[in-house]
Amino acid sequence: MKPQAMHTDWISKWAQYSPEAVMLQDDGNGATITYAQAQAMLLRTAGLLQSRYGIAPGDRVAVLALNHMEYVVLFFAVQKLGAILVPLNYRLAAPELDYQLSDSTPKLLLFEQEFLDTLSKTSFTGEKALLQGEAGFLAQMHGTGGSASIPLNPQHEGALEDACMILYTSGTTGRPKGAVITNGMLFWNSVNTGLRLNLVQSDVTLTFAPFFHTGGWNVLTTPFIHRGAKLILLRKFDAARILELCGQEGVSILFGVPTMMDMLYREPGWGQANLEKLRYAIVGGEPMPVPLIEAWHEKGVPIRQGYGLTEFGPNVFSLNETDAIRKIGSIGFPNFYIDAQVMREDGSFAADDEAGELVLRGPVCMQGYWNKPEETAKTIVNGWLHTGDIVRRDAEGYFYVIDRKKEMFISGAENVYPAEVEHVLRTHPAIREVAVVGVPDPKWGETGKAFVVLKTGEAADAEVLRNWARERLAKYKVPGHWAFVDELPKSDSGKILKRKLKEA
Ligand code: AMP
Repeated sequence: MKPQAMHTDWISKWAQYSPEAVMLQDDGNGATITYAQAQAMLLRTAGLLQSRYGIAPGDRVAVLALNHMEYVVLFFAVQKLGAILVPLNYRLAAPELDYQLSDSTPKLLLFEQEFLDTLSKTSFTGEKALLQGEAGFLAQMHGTGGSASIPLNPQHEGALEDACMILYTSGTTGRPKGAVITNGMLFWNSVNTGLRLNLVQSDVTLTFAPFFHTGGWNVLTTPFIHRGAKLILLRKFDAARILELCGQEGVSILFGVPTMMDMLYREPGWGQANLEKLRYAIVGGEPMPVPLIEAWHEKGVPIRQGYGLTEFGPNVFSLNETDAIRKIGSIGFPNFYIDAQVMREDGSFAADDEAGELVLRGPVCMQGYWNKPEETAKTIVNGWLHTGDIVRRDAEGYFYVIDRKKEMFISGAENVYPAEVEHVLRTHPAIREVAVVGVPDPKWGETGKAFVVLKTGEAADAEVLRNWARERLAKYKVPGHWAFVDELPKSDSGKILKRKLKEA
């Protein structure tokens, strides 16, 4: 038998040696997909994409859907063809979605019925297929609707450096950029994560982080499949259900962002929740408040703080279980096969305890930004990916995130780039100038505060501007606070002094 390419071997390997092992379980209806079933579905789906939709290496297949089991298999089918999955953020407003579709130009767009309305407000004219329904794409993935015996021909031999996914991440320039993820990134991220988290085949996790973000795919989903372990999928975050499932299903590893961990802790069922099987929880995306880390520890669940980013995979740093309290507040040390350095403004490396920009090098680096060579060249310089995060490393080699170079703030674990919000607000006819900064928020960690200068003789209140923003931006990007001012504080060179606004 001819060996499969290294990166596509995972599901077929487990399908051969642990065919009955459950790969995916749908929390909604209890349905499961074993590794053997996943392999059959993967081949059928790849054949379907190839023969019905003409998907060939390099083509993009976009998906606009909430998380579901088949979404996972679909990704591996797209990857098997050498094509590229574009998981779209279902929270985006029509103009934002329109931009991502025209940037990635998918040959096929698979969507769920509930997003048809938003989709119809975009200018996308390519081929689309509905996921649900008797003749829908999902049914065909399951082998009904005449798709039972579609052959996959020719087979594609993928390489580690080939692109397999585009994940959009908000850009400092006001427009999101598509980070091109390669087979190699997924492979090394899975090997790395498996080693660092001690993943074993009997592990069980819950997936509720969305698949339009690296957190949904690459913190645990792809590493778990690499290991032949089991994933239970929730369509969306549901705190009460997650606590219940931890006990019922013997969940052994959990991944969440601090906002989610806080919601779980505040859930009325927290006191009774059976978390005995939980070896630990991985937390990343933003700093987790120390009292919350301690509350989880008191419940017997070590919190392993991690750090990552779309462009370099979500598992770049993590804190070992044994260090969880000793090094509280740290993101730990770099995972294997990752070079991490703290860089000074002049490009030299900083000493221990000296603050500088975190730069990274290694095989988990993205290929670049889709169709944006200039942005790529600004981000990956001499082989080092510039994260825009200001960190320091202590004498023992543990890293701490202390600030962000970029103006981005994080609301409920979603990155918000003020430039993008300002760009939209500036199109309002009553606004002369506007600046947005992140301010602390008890529920979301941070939220936006907009400082607005109105044009002379124009009137608009917060309600009007909020609605304007809501029609054009995802909800989490819409500022929670509004201030109307006569002018914005500026430096001598005319640059808006955001720090002053933050202190206001
Ligand atoms: P994303 O590309 O959406 O995954 O966002 C990546 C960014 O999230 C990083 O560049 C950091 O600014 C931030 N981030 C991720 N993990 C942490 C963490 N543990 N502590 C502080 N910031 C973090």
